[in-house]
Formats: sequence, structure tokens, C-alpha cells
Amino acid sequence: AHLDRITSVEGKVKAFLHVDAETTLAQARAVDERRAAGEELGPLAGVPIAHKDVFTTVDMPTTAGSRILENWRPPYDATITRRLREAGLVFLGKTNLDEFAMGSSTENSAYGPTHNPWDLTRIAGGSSGGSAAAVAAFEAPLSTGTDTGGSIRQPAAVTGIVGMKPTYGGSSRYGLIAFASSLDTPGPFARNVLDAALLHEAFSGHDPYDSTSIEAPVPPVAEAARQGDVAGLRIGVIKEFSGEGYQPGVMARFRETVELLESLGAKVVELSCPSFTYALPAYYLIAPSEVSSNLARFDAMRYGLRVGDDGTRSAEEVMALTRAAGFGPEVKRRIMLGTYALSSGYYDAYYGQAQKVRTLIARDFEAAFHQVDVLISPTTPTTAFPIGERADDPMAMYLADLCTIPTNLAGNAAISIPCGLADEDDLPVGLQIIAPVLGDDRCYRVGAAVER
Ligand code: GLN
Repeated sequence: AHLDRITSVEGKVKAFLHVDAETTLAQARAVDERRAAGEELGPLAGVPIAHKDVFTTVDMPTTAGSRILENWRPPYDATITRRLREAGLVFLGKTNLDEFAMGSSTENSAYGPTHNPWDLTRIAGGSSGGSAAAVAAFEAPLSTGTDTGGSIRQPAAVTGIVGMKPTYGGSSRYGLIAFASSLDTPGPFARNVLDAALLHEAFSGHDPYDSTSIEAPVPPVAEAARQGDVAGLRIGVIKEFSGEGYQPGVMARFRETVELLESLGAKVVELSCPSFTYALPAYYLIAPSEVSSNLARFDAMRYGLRVGDDGTRSAEEVMALTRAAGFGPEVKRRIMLGTYALSSGYYDAYYGQAQKVRTLIARDFEAAFHQVDVLISPTTPTTAFPIGERADDPMAMYLADLCTIPTNLAGNAAISIPCGLADEDDLPVGLQIIAPVLGDDRCYRVGAAVER
């Protein structure tokens, strides 16, 4: 049924980079056989899923939305895809994304933008826009994404679905094509909170292949999603995430949700996190710095695209030609920014300074979580903007992640759940619920209480 749905709507939505019905059906038959042989499979066995095309898959290509990896077939599965395969989920295909997950609209994909199923002229968010659109358009019931600065929560918000960024280190980065390794966090997309929690549980847990993977039990997220109550909980509204630049329709739905939480027995207070104002600039120094180092591996020698290797050129020349042809403008911008920020003489002024801000942000969260159990805000300042509107204005694009980035810098957990449509454009609005490190279950508990 999902393959049929893909056939009928994919021409308009363009959520996928790769769909392979034969492989999908072969996987489904294999699950049937395992079940028939008496194997105990998890609660999601047989459920189809789409994967953001940054997770390696042995039986499907992996491009990271870049020309530099066009047609690349990975020799191994990422931990996320391997665990889901073992749990019996069936892979529908690989979804579109901003190149190397750099962006907020999926317009930076080398393969063209994904369209928002609510209004095809609008963006589906990014960088995991394909995964969000696939779920919102009923092409897939579940999908995976990655959140480095908001790339799960922001597309979830603008497509009206649930998207969760787990605690950093709670979900494995092994086999995830690296963007900014100290921030990258795989997470689930679903159409309701419980489905997201079940997927979260299916791929989480310690992974010896990822050196930053946490050695702690997975928080009881499915139980929390089933519980779904807020009576007696203390909830903080982040003062800094309102005011100028926030769309009235977004704020109206947010205020209604605050009232709903109060009526369900939560105690809501307003809180200030003063350092959050500096999160965006700090992120745009730290993330590109890590990019400049992580993307050095695309050297035209080991795998991927190779341009100009005709026997007359040096390795350096082939490398330069390949990187010039294989990377898009945003990726190049970030490599240059990061290389500059890390260069000797500027290191202390930029990267060092940004790391200090990162510490201040973590302290703001710590202070806030002494007073409240979770923090809430709108997930994004606006609803989905028109395709093309911010494409030539990187600063305007970066603002889409204003509310989501502090969580990545501090490494704690946050979810986006739908909270209605904005009056001015009838487009989905997202509520962000932020919890402390390893408090992922609180996101699901509060989310399940207020999801509509
Ligand atoms: N939009 C942000 C960026 O471009 C976040 C991306 C992400 O979370 N992968 O870096």
C-alpha cells in the first residue's frame, strides 16, 4: 500500500531519492519467513520505514544529497539501519535532504527540493525534509532523520508531524555520514507520539562502534508516551523565544497549548535563558569548523566522485576538480567558514569563543531544569515558507533554527509535536518540548498529553 501511495504522490512531493520496490518486497518476505520460523520480532516488525539518505544501507545507495556520493553503494549498514533491519522493519527507500544535512529547507539538495504536502509551493523544512514529507504525505508511516541544529524538529513542525531529537549519544552515529560530530543526533519521525517512541526504542541504546555513545539504559519513552499526563509537572516557557520575528499564528497556537497544559494540571512559569540569544552565532562557528574537518575525507581517492583523472593531472589537481564539481554552494560556504574559524590566529577569537558560549548555554539549561521539569517554545518562528524565498539569503535561512539550536549545543533531548494550524496560512505549527540529558521520556510524556 505504501509503495502504491509513493507511486501516486511522489511526482509532486519528491520526498525520495531512491525507491526500490523489489528490495522492499524482498525484505518484507524475509520478515514473514523469520516470523514463520518462530523468531521473536519486536513491535514494529513488518512496518515500512523510509530512511534519510545519510544513513548507510547495504542494499540501497547512500548519497547524503550530494553529487560527490552519487551512486555510491556503502559496504556496510549504519547501526540505526542495522538495528531496524534486525527488528524486522521494511525499508521503502532513501529520502531527500539538504546536501550533507546543511540547511533548513531541503533546497540545498543536489537533486532538487522536496515539496510540503500541505502546500506544494512551500518547503518541507530541512535538512530531513524528505523524511518529514514522506510521513506527512502518507508515503511512509515512520522515518529516520538526523538533528544537528534542528533538522528533525523543524521539518516535523512545518509538515505537522512528530519529530524527536534524542539526547546526544543516545542514538548511534556509526554509519551516519558526518556533518558536525559533536552535534549530530539520529532520531525518529512519526504521525503520533507513541509511534515515534516505539521507533526511538527500536534503534537506541549503547553502541560500541560510536565513541560518544552513552552507556546508560534507554529512557522509558514508549511507557511515557502511553502515560501521557502532565498533572503536577512544572513547565517553563522560554522567554527569549517570542516577540519580533515570531508569526502571530504560531504564537496563538503556542499560547493555546500553554493554556491546555495548565488545564491538565501542569504548573507553567516563564523562564529566562539569557545565553540562548548567542546560540545561533556560536552554532554557525562550531558546526562549520567540524565540517571543514569531517568533509576532508571526500578526496576523490577512496570513494565517490572522481573528476579529471585522465593521467595528466596530479592527485591534488584531481582532488580540487572533484571537490569543486561535487560540492554545492552551501557546503563550500561552510568549509570556508570553518577553515577560517579554525585557522591559527583566529582560533581563540572565533572557535574558542563559540565553545565558551556553548558552556553558557548548557548552564542556562542546568539552571532552568532546577526549577522546571521541561521547557517549551514554538519549534520554529514561522510556518513553512515558500520554496525559493530564502534560498539566496543564508542568514534568513539560518533563522529557521533559532529555537532548536540551543538543545544541540547542550546535548539534551527535545521533541516537536503538532499543535494546530496557523490562522493566516492554515499551515502546521509545532510545539517544542525540551528535557534534560537522558530525560527523553519527559518529551514523550508531555507530548502525548497535548497532541491533537
Ligand atoms: N539548519 C541547520 C544547518 O543548516 C541545521 C541542520 C541540521 O540539523 N542538520 O546547519
